[in-house]
Amino acid sequence: MATEISDAEILRLISAQINLPSPPVIAAQILKTIQNKESSLSDLEQIITADPALTSKLLRIANSAFYGLPCAIGNVNRALSILGTNVIKNIALSFVISSDLRNKTESWLNFDYFWRRSVTAAVAGELIVELLHKKNEDIFVTALLQDIGILIMYLSKGQEYTAALEQCINYGETNLVQLEQKMYQFDHQQLSWTLLKTWGIPLSIVQPVRYHHQPDHAPEEYRQTCSVLYMANLLSAIYSGAETSQNVRELHTKMEEFFNIPEDQTRTLLDNVAEKSLDILKIFEIDPGELKPYSQMLQEANDELGKLNLSYEQLVLELKESKLKSEKIAQELKKANSQLKELAFRDGLTHLYNHRYFQEILGKEMNRAKRYNNHLCLILFDIDFFKHVNDTFGHPAGDQVLINLTQAISKAVRPSDIVARYGGEEFAVILPETNQAGMNVFAERLRRCAAAVTTMIQDHEVKVTISCGGVHIAPGDNVTQHQLIDAADRNLFLSKKNGRNRVTTLPISATL
Ligand code: GH3
Ligand code: MG
Ligand code: MG
Repeated sequence: MATEISDAEILRLISAQINLPSPPVIAAQILKTIQNKESSLSDLEQIITADPALTSKLLRIANSAFYGLPCAIGNVNRALSILGTNVIKNIALSFVISSDLRNKTESWLNFDYFWRRSVTAAVAGELIVELLHKKNEDIFVTALLQDIGILIMYLSKGQEYTAALEQCINYGETNLVQLEQKMYQFDHQQLSWTLLKTWGIPLSIVQPVRYHHQPDHAPEEYRQTCSVLYMANLLSAIYSGAETSQNVRELHTKMEEFFNIPEDQTRTLLDNVAEKSLDILKIFEIDPGELKPYSQMLQEANDELGKLNLSYEQLVLELKESKLKSEKIAQELKKANSQLKELAFRDGLTHLYNHRYFQEILGKEMNRAKRYNNHLCLILFDIDFFKHVNDTFGHPAGDQVLINLTQAISKAVRPSDIVARYGGEEFAVILPETNQAGMNVFAERLRRCAAAVTTMIQDHEVKVTISCGGVHIAPGDNVTQHQLIDAADRNLFLSKKNGRNRVTTLPISATL
């Protein structure tokens, strides 16, 4: 275990591999002043005021909502007396170290990202301590500098360390520590610790840094601070993008486990961290990026989801509408199709079934009669002396006679009977489930019906008669369609031969 090796061994391992940078000049001066028992408040004040940029930042933070002081602080001296040497020293160190290690030009590491993450962790550390009603003036700078080892590691190892970081881009995770141990036999916690110790940073700050990912490995006196650092890191990771919701779950669990803090308080803390960080980042002159309170992130995600839901509902509606539309079109198509089919089956003048359909339906009816042992009859009829009508009144008059006659006949038949135009002025009637006697009656009715039809043409009452030839097939009769039509045709011929306007229904055998 990394924690089992001695401090000297860690220092040896680090020194062999890393060139530890010296502290920024002003930081070194501040630290020297703090360590020197003889130095006074005014020494620290002098160092700070010598740097106008540092002074202005320090006063801005002292006057920020972070410290919530009742009256404005106008100079460093006043800041020192109100907030105390330790607080001012820590603020000064935070500014000096972070700005010194920011102006590098290395390409891969985003220094703004690194310091944004560190400042957020520092703010988070401060707010956790406040929530726990503990006093820890060092927590801000401790949390801010805990990961400085990562920066140093990157600056010395470059590309090689980049690969490790890329593997654990969310470097608040302990797996980065494990990876570093495997690669270098020391990790960034130990490096931060060693560097800050070498710089002369007080032990109260330096010691907890060493175990910030492993609070349970820390000596008892630093364990709670390490736990705060761990949580600060997690809070800062939440605002750094990677695996946010998973980190929030861990945050709630660990806040409860480490500090007995219930969920609602942790939620408030989470939002406070972002709000306060935005203020502090401004003073540190660090771009806050996309940083915003978690509840706002959730609200925005919720709104997005709402929009998605809305467009989903709209989509469902549109789908429903287009389904209805397509169903309507399908219905119209079906209707048009059956109309087309009807047209193909019907004769244009009389609207009776045409010859082709007559042949098809006769075949079906013959099969059906055979299957169900039914009787079936066929009547062919032909208008008598129709040529004469045409010759006398003209072809259109003949057409009108055909129309009137077929209309009358269509009305006279049963719905199950099928009337067709066989050709010219010759027609056919199929009579399903009808025996010889039934056919005889029907044929006679048909003849009379035709004879009763009058067509008015130019003041003339035109009447025609028909000659019928009918045949019957009884169940069990073995007759082909061709034979059936032939027999009906022969009976029709007999009607013509015997004087027209009559019915002949001899059995098939007799017509041969
Ligand atoms: P028969 O009693 O022997 O049947 O004498 P017919 O004059 O009716 O017989 P024929 O076969 O000599 O003449 C049939 C006539 O029917 C000739 C034809 O022009 C006419 N015809 C056939 N189809 C139509 C039609 O659609 N419209 C009209 N106006 N006449 C038609
Ligand atoms: Mg005729
Ligand atoms: Mg004819």
